[in-house]
Amino acid sequence: MDTLSAPLTIAFDYTRSLGPVLGRFMAGLRGGRVLGGRTSDGRVHVPPLEYDPGTHAPVTELVEVSPAGTVLSWTWTDRPLEGQPLDRPFGWALIRLDGADTALLHAVDAGGSDAMSTGMRVRIRWAAERIGHIRDIECFEPGEAGPDSGGDGADGAVVEIVTTPIRLHYRHSTSVEESGYLRGLAEGRIVGRRCPACRKVYVPPRVCPACGVATVDEVEVADRGTVTTFCVVNVPFAGQRLTPPYVVAQVLLDGADIPIPHLILGVPAAEVRMGLRVAAVWRDRADWTTTPENIDHFEPSGEADAPYETFAEHL
Ligand SMILES: [Zn+2]
Repeated sequence: MDTLSAPLTIAFDYTRSLGPVLGRFMAGLRGGRVLGGRTSDGRVHVPPLEYDPGTHAPVTELVEVSPAGTVLSWTWTDRPLEGQPLDRPFGWALIRLDGADTALLHAVDAGGSDAMSTGMRVRIRWAAERIGHIRDIECFEPGEAGPDSGGDGADGAVVEIVTTPIRLHYRHSTSVEESGYLRGLAEGRIVGRRCPACRKVYVPPRVCPACGVATVDEVEVADRGTVTTFCVVNVPFAGQRLTPPYVVAQVLLDGADIPIPHLILGVPAAEVRMGLRVAAVWRDRADWTTTPENIDHFEPSGEADAPYETFAEHL
């Protein structure tokens, strides 16, 4: 049987609070200035350290360094990837800005690797629009600091939060077992597999984690079952599709030996309980594909609660 394969993207915006030192560093970039942090030994670190590695005291003295510096080490990127600073071949370099004692990692737009060398002089190319982010430095380019390279010099308010989009694109290829499970869902069936050794039914199918053997026989299980454990989601987060509070539960489908996680809707969150009997609510049949999302959610089936003993071994 052919196995299924599909492109998947995992994406979220990573937000980080900066604190007083990096917040001032980012505000400096927004104003077209690079600030380093001076530690107790007199060295200037760019980017600044938040704590002195010698005394462990907070770093408080920030000093402006030059927007030009020297390449200490470098490598060349022939095929830039999505999200990298430049969309054409460029160099990654460790650059020590004049006035700093440490090196900053950044991209150099040199045109070609033959234009890169250790010891070469480079200067910052500022982004056209600056928001208080490391990407306010668009990249470095060969040359010395020019008279207009310093921006307006106004730092403004300390930057408190930076947002970094994270995007991961990949292709997911399923196992034979998982393909059978997904093809079943496209027909409105929930198909697990039974372990030949311990006889447990796994949904979705997998190698039996207890016996370490492949599961073989396909077993169709019910689209209704019992809530074993659950969690009331009260915390809002970016991209959330439901309004809290709502419930995500482990549902032990009738005929299966391990529960699946799913949404429990159609009942106040406070009324969801262990043993609650629930039934799948499928999306419109016309929308079914090879995905678990064919089941929109579960909701109470109206049956009497299942006694604890009936699911105690499946938590
Ligand atoms: Zn087993």
